[in-house]
Amino acid sequence: MDEVQRRLAHIHIRSSECKGCRYCVEICPKRVYEMTTVYNELGYRVPQASHEEECIVCRRCETACPDLAIYVKRMGVRFNRRNLSVVDASYQR
Ligand code: SF4
Ligand code: SF4
Repeated sequence: MDEVQRRLAHIHIRSSECKGCRYCVEICPKRVYEMTTVYNELGYRVPQASHEEECIVCRRCETACPDLAIYVKRMGVRFNRRNLSVVDASYQR
C-alpha cells in the first residue's frame, strides 16, 4: 500500500464565471488554489487548483464562491506514486 496514494477529489472551475475574488484561495484549509496570471473574457484573473491532490472535499470553496464557479467532485482513486498511473478509480457524487 506504500506506493499507492488516494486522491479524493476532482475540482472543476468554470473560469468564464469567475470574478477573481480570491475567496477560494483564502478559505481552503489545504491551500489547494493559487491565482494564475490568466484573465478570463470578463477581465478577471482566475485561480487554478494547483494542489488538487491535497483536497479533503470539505466543500468550503464551493460554498464561498459567489459565482458558483467551483464544483468539487468526490472521487475514489488510487494511483501509483512512482508513475502516477491510476490503478483503481471509482466516482461518487
Ligand atoms: S473542498 Fe475544501 S480542501 Fe478541497 S479545494 Fe475546496 S476548500 Fe480546499
Ligand atoms: S471564489 Fe469563485 S469567483 Fe472567487 S476567485 Fe474563486 S472561483 Fe473565482
